[in-house]
Amino acid sequence: MLPYTTLEEAETTIGRALTTPETIWLKYSATKSDYFLYCHNILFLFLIFSCVPLYYIFLQLFFRHKIQSFKIQPKVNLSLSDTFRCYKSVMKMFIFIVGPLQLVSYPSVQFIGIRTSLPLPSLWGIIAQLTVYFLVEDYTNYWIHRFLHCKWGYEKIHKVHHEYTAPIAFAAPYAHWAEILILGIPSFLGPAMVPGHMITFWLWIGLRQIEAIETHSGYDLPWTFTKFIPFYGGSDYHDYHHYVGGQSQSNFASVFTYCDFIYGTDKGYRYQKKVLQQLREGLKSNGKRNGILHSISAEGPKAD
Ligand SMILES: [Zn+2]
Ligand SMILES: [Zn+2]
Repeated sequence: MLPYTTLEEAETTIGRALTTPETIWLKYSATKSDYFLYCHNILFLFLIFSCVPLYYIFLQLFFRHKIQSFKIQPKVNLSLSDTFRCYKSVMKMFIFIVGPLQLVSYPSVQFIGIRTSLPLPSLWGIIAQLTVYFLVEDYTNYWIHRFLHCKWGYEKIHKVHHEYTAPIAFAAPYAHWAEILILGIPSFLGPAMVPGHMITFWLWIGLRQIEAIETHSGYDLPWTFTKFIPFYGGSDYHDYHHYVGGQSQSNFASVFTYCDFIYGTDKGYRYQKKVLQQLREGLKSNGKRNGILHSISAEGPKAD
């Protein structure tokens, strides 16, 4: 809870006039406990898991023919009832694991020093911290993900997330409860190393999930904003990991491509890209641009 409740008190303590975002934050948070503010994440995650995938459902329902060429595995099309079944499983996990995890993890947030006080961080401060969070999480997640692909980790835990060999947006958080708990650790590491404001923390949790939904969408849409981020993996990159499945030794990174490049775990994907490119060029020069290319894209290589 903020140590001041009025604008005058806040301005006297800070020693300057509050900006508009700071005034809004003061009005909203002054009488709310830090724990209650932290628990906003539960609502944000519920809304993100429920609403963001609807964007892809909307595109499928009303612009299917326009976006079909961007579908990464065009031969696989899940029905609406199968999609809803996936959402129900995700919600079950949300109610029994994700929500309670948020409720009980507040002491760690308190311990690492996430603050709710004024002044608010600058936009560049937020961007810098979010960049660190994404990089730290990506690196840690890479190694945990690799561990989950060992025989024991895959059979006991990670297999659930790989049930979707052609992922859909709703399946981004679809995983074994143990995987959800384990992958909570990398999410906390960045904020623990560079603690910031609660707003930055909300943004981090929200943006990471939105990113995961896009990555699992099954579509490589050319107008996606993340296309402009250097070393970003994206949906095509992660889709390949799901396509290969249990034996996959490629594309472990969740956000960027640098870990797989450094540790040589992107060879299968690069090879597939090269072969597809050569086929495209060959078909173009032969003037035989027909369904063959699509079927190759959908089937991909047999192993990486
Ligand atoms: Zn995996
Ligand atoms: Zn995945």
